[in-house]
Amino acid sequence: MVDLKRQYEKIQEEVDAAVLDVIKSTKYINGPEVKAFQQDLESYLGVRHVIPCANGTDALQVAMMALDLKPGDEVITTSFTFVATVEVISLLGLTPVLVDVDPDTFNIDPDAFRKAITPKTKAVVPVHLFGQSAHMQPIMDIAESHGLYVIEDNAQAIGADYIFSDGTRKKTGTIGHIGCTSFFPAKNLGCYGDGGAIFTNDDDLAKKLRVMVNHGMDVRYYHDEVGVNSRLDSIQAAILRIKLRRLDQYAQDRRKAAAYYDNAFGDHPGLAIPYRADYSTHVFHQYTLKTSGIDRFALQEYLMTNEVPAMIYYPVPMHLQKAYHDPRYSKGDFPVTEALSDRVISLPMHTELDEEQLAYIADKVLSFFKNK
Ligand SMILES: *Cc1c(COP(=O)(O)O)cnc(C)c1O
Repeated sequence: MVDLKRQYEKIQEEVDAAVLDVIKSTKYINGPEVKAFQQDLESYLGVRHVIPCANGTDALQVAMMALDLKPGDEVITTSFTFVATVEVISLLGLTPVLVDVDPDTFNIDPDAFRKAITPKTKAVVPVHLFGQSAHMQPIMDIAESHGLYVIEDNAQAIGADYIFSDGTRKKTGTIGHIGCTSFFPAKNLGCYGDGGAIFTNDDDLAKKLRVMVNHGMDVRYYHDEVGVNSRLDSIQAAILRIKLRRLDQYAQDRRKAAAYYDNAFGDHPGLAIPYRADYSTHVFHQYTLKTSGIDRFALQEYLMTNEVPAMIYYPVPMHLQKAYHDPRYSKGDFPVTEALSDRVISLPMHTELDEEQLAYIADKVLSFFKNK
């Protein structure tokens, strides 16, 4: 699905030197590279504060801890997401309230969000799935009118722009009260291990988030809050600085691959290519097709036997997962999510796809339909 080796080879000299420098410096934890990366990312995103942490799941957890959400508080998010979004809500004893997504964008349906609000609702977590922003303007308006916090799960869309109706743009993750991201290797800005970050424009929240990721400690060995230990390694920060400088180019490379696929599948009656919302740029964390009239697992199997990896993100929505079973929900409650889970398939999408590979992948997908 990704080609991290070829991507590394193109920046190998720079990365190897930067990693060795950190090793020689012995400043492995909270070294100068971490601070420098934080500042680089703040200026790239145009956000006041970036708080690096250990992974994207921690970022979401710490965000909810810093907002003082209490057991029983309801947090609204979508059933069509990676588990981490719902996992942290449950882990903190909060109540996940799931809603359906928009059939075109796969992102939270603002109307469904509005209808799910109760007096217990404290926050909403829009997930910018597959590299495209959720519709943040209506989400922010609804949240504001009900006094709710907005925590953006930006693990899949770092670098994407949300475009407001007046034409102004903001980077995803910098629009709500808090944004969270992941630097897992396969993400658009991936390091060579685990990493994550939290963004905010609120000075007080930033201070609290920094204390929270550091054992609830502001002054050393004085703990004013129950926190966690969640740090980004200096080595990972050094690698991320190098890759951040290329992030826009990486997005361009992904868009080019997406355009190739669009061209190959755009007219096919059994395949719907990814929809582009006019309020967002797309950074193609995934290239996800909606299939119809076929057994999608058979297509996946056929591609696999032809050495084309293909993945189903996500085969089981959160409300139908064993761990998140909740008597409030049953099959049929979220028809769009359930239909997508039954129909989507994601093709290889990364920065190193060349025309020959794209042609081969497209040919295999199309020949599955011809032979069916
Ligand atoms: C990857 C991902 C996360 C979690 O990030 P980790 O760094 O793996 O903990 C959270 N939400 C979404 C939508 C993701 O894709």
